[in-house]
Formats: sequence, structure tokens, C-alpha cells
Amino acid sequence: MGTLKNSIETVISGLATGLYLDGEWIDAQGRKTFAVENPATGATLATVADGSIADAQRAIRSAGDNQVNWAHTPPRERSDILRRAYEMIMDRTDELSLLMTAEMGKPLAEARGEVAYGAEFLRWFSEEAVRISGDYTTSGDGKNRILLTRSPVGPSILITPWNFPLAMGTRKIGPAIASGCTMVFKPAPQTPLTSLALVQILREAGLPPGVLNVVTTTDAEGVVKTWMESGIARKVSFTGSTAVGKILLAQAAKNVMRTSMELGGNAPFIVFDDADLDRAVDGAMVAKLRNMGEACTAANRFLVHRSVADSFSDKLANRMSSLKVGDGTLAGVDIGPLVDGPALQKVESLVDDALSRGAEVVLGGSRPTGMGYFYNPTVLSNVSPDSLMMDTEIFGPVAPVVPFSDEAQALALANNTNSGLVGYVFTQDIDRALRLSDELEVGMVGVNTGIVSNPGAPFGGIKHSGLGREGGRLGIDEFLEYKYLAIPR
Ligand code: NAP
Repeated sequence: MGTLKNSIETVISGLATGLYLDGEWIDAQGRKTFAVENPATGATLATVADGSIADAQRAIRSAGDNQVNWAHTPPRERSDILRRAYEMIMDRTDELSLLMTAEMGKPLAEARGEVAYGAEFLRWFSEEAVRISGDYTTSGDGKNRILLTRSPVGPSILITPWNFPLAMGTRKIGPAIASGCTMVFKPAPQTPLTSLALVQILREAGLPPGVLNVVTTTDAEGVVKTWMESGIARKVSFTGSTAVGKILLAQAAKNVMRTSMELGGNAPFIVFDDADLDRAVDGAMVAKLRNMGEACTAANRFLVHRSVADSFSDKLANRMSSLKVGDGTLAGVDIGPLVDGPALQKVESLVDDALSRGAEVVLGGSRPTGMGYFYNPTVLSNVSPDSLMMDTEIFGPVAPVVPFSDEAQALALANNTNSGLVGYVFTQDIDRALRLSDELEVGMVGVNTGIVSNPGAPFGGIKHSGLGREGGRLGIDEFLEYKYLAIPR
């Protein structure tokens, strides 16, 4: 334990905790700061600079001033920076995963997984940087050449949540660098340390001054509004809640900015009576418990055919009962703490609400005693469709099971939400799987799998879950504009 504490302290002592503006670290010492807490213990890990409106102004000016030069950098140079940063992240997997677990709570094995996942966005977009293509055609009447070119959209505002502190950053920074956009970046206040470590790596990998400016702050509203209203930023790329996404969409309208919105989910996980139940339970374990359930892709509603609902609930509860809850830095721990006090209170009140409407506890249903924001893995059966958790992201290790009678009812329940990020379908009938995939109102479908995230695939939702796609071949489009040239023949 002592050695681990020392290692976390060593990693943090090597970290810049100030603002990164115009290629310069602005020391946190002597400025307003805020504390970063370890959610497993409540202890303060570090204090970081609390950026002000003046800092935000400096950041966006820097992004604006450096846009033209950066856009003219040879694609291969941008590609090489990303590739070097990818290698450096992979080399530093141990320290980055320790840092992530300490500030966010996910178990070390999952943090290591996120390091590889997050780094891969940089490798992917290092490959995309040199493949940005246009088009050349002839007009129908044969009189004109139609030349299509692509250029960076311009200075971009990047805002990330705390649940995947590395990957949510690299999924935006990767394509922005690849396409030649400068950036202002505001990480979540719960998890700034991983983001600052990433910035340090990008700087060491050769990212020129002013291309990426970072403001950690407790004044998200003020800092981001300054950027949105600056008239300099041309794009906002946001990952977070639907409520905040809507505020930013309204702000973006004033300057007619491009937007990418990766917002909240409410994923249905549908299990038919012909499904391989063991495989469905395997899928449920990852779809529900990755990140302690604190994922936009988390299965939020288990819709299970009435004839197999009890056996599915029992099998799932059986698997979940063997999980060890505790400090994610310790060996053997499967479920770390939730990110903070409000997150824990939200999960507790959603469970209370479901129970008051007739749900039954198959497993868990409470928090363990002691320090930290822990919640026990929980399975609830016979959850009423009007329970609040049916239309609210639970963001905790709670699996509500709702029985259905036929395919039409399953589909109606699944689509009965404003969210549309991802859905999971478990069936051995290929026709049914494809039919459901067509009809589910979501941007992504997992067929007999509980995980869809992949740097090579376009991630994103429809309805209130967002606009645009991140990752895959479409990811770079979000940071590029088209220009058409008319050239007579
Ligand atoms: P959040 O409260 O919306 O916060 C996200 C980010 O926005 C944070 O950096 C936050 O800073 C900032 N923010 C808050 N209010 C703002 C404002 N008025 N103007 C500008 N920025 C503002 O979401 P969260 O609780 O951190 O993250 C969880 C949510 O993210 C869930 O809904 C989850 O589904 C979603 N998510 C979606 C995806 C996806 O790809 N679709 C991926 C991961 C997470 P402060 O905390 O300082 O307010």
C-alpha cells in the first residue's frame, strides 16, 4: 500500500499542474487553484490551476493567432507528432493508468485498457492525417471542372467529461491535430491530471506552441462562454451531458459554429428468448459494469423476454455477486468508487425510486459501509417502465431488468426515450438481429456483444444523444470544411 501511495505521489510530482497557454506552462503556484480528489479515499491528490476568464481569452487568442501556420504544416509532420505521442503514451501505460485510477476511480486493469484505447485514437489519426482527400469531377454539360478541396475548420473548442479522461481527449485532439486545427481544451475538473499528462506528452512529441491551449477551471460556464462568444473559434466539440450540450448548441448558433455533440445515452440491452443466455450475461457484464456503469454506452435498461427474465436475472446476479468492490488501485478489485458524492446520491435515489414502484432486489441495492463513493453491484427485477431510471442515465453498477412479451413490445420500450446512442441485441436469429438493428433509434448497435467502442469505428448517437461522429474514417470530417472550385474547361 505504502509503495503504491509513493508511486502515485511520484507520478503526480512529475506533472505540470498549471495552465498551458501559447506553448508555455503557467505555474499554478501563487494562483487560484482547486483540489483533485481520490474518490476511493476522499484524499486530495493534487491542486491544479483554476483558470479565469482572462486565461480563457489568452488561450483563444493563441489558438486564433496560430491557426494559419498550423494549417500549413505538412500533413506528414502532423502525422509524426501523433505517432510519437501514441508511442509515448503506450510506453507510459503504468504511470498513466495509476494516475487515472487515482483521480477517477476505475480499477487499474480498466485504466490500462483505456490507455491503450485512448492512445489508439492518436495512432489512427496519425494515419488519417496523410490521407485527407478531395474530389475532381466534370460538370454534366462538360463545360466545367469541379474541384473539391478540404481544409481545417479552424480554431476548435474541446470540452471533455471525467468518465474516460484520456480517451475523450484523444478522440478530439487526434483528429484536430491531423486536420490542422488549433485548439482550446477544457478537461473535466474531477480528472484534470490525466489530461495534463496528455498535454505534456503531446508537447514532448513536438506539438508546436499555441496549437493546443489548456485551461483547467471550476468556471466551466464562464471560460467556455468566453470561447464561444470570441468570434475566433469556428467549432465546438463537446462530450458530456445532453443538458450542457443543448446550452452549447444555443451558444454555437450565435456565431454559426460547427458542432460535434457526444451526449448522454440510455442504452436498451434486449435479450430474446432464443438468445444464448451465457453469452448475453457475458455481454451484460461489460455493457453494464465497464467503468462502474459510468459510461454513456452503459446498458441502462435490460429488456428481457418474459420466459427467460428470471433465469437471466439470476445468472447475472450470480456473476455480479463475485465482483470485488474497493479502491481500484488494489489488486483483485473489479468495481471502484463512483466519481463523487453527487454521483453516489443519484444512484441511491434512482434505486429507491424503482423499489418504491415495485421493483425487487435480486442483488445489492445498497452501498458498502466506510469511506469512498462505493455502490454495490445491483440487479433489480420487475422494474416498472415508469421508474425514473428507465429515462435517466443511472451511471452506476445497477442493472434493472424489465420483462417484455414480444418483439414489438421490446422495440417500443427500447425506443421510448429521447436518447439514441447505442442499443444491444441478443438473439440467435440473424433476421431478427438485422430487423431490430434497422428499427432501433440509435447511432450504434451491438449484436450479441456488450461493447461497441472501437477507435476504427464511428462513435456517436442520434436524437438527444448528439450530432456527428468521433473515431473511424468519419472522425476527421468533423474538423474539415469543403471548398468547391469552378474551373472552366
Ligand atoms: P457534464 O456535466 O455535461 O460535463 C461535461 C463537461 O462540460 C465538463 O468538462 C463540464 O465542466 C463542462 N460543462 C458543464 N457545464 C458547462 C457549461 N455551461 N458550459 C460549458 N461547459 C460546461 O457531463 P459529465 O457529468 O462530466 O459527464 C457525464 C455525461 O457525459 C453523461 O451524460 C455521459 O453519457 C456523457 N458522455 C457521453 C459520451 C459520448 O460519447 N456520447 C462519452 C462520455 C460521456 P464542469 O464539470 O466544471 O461543469
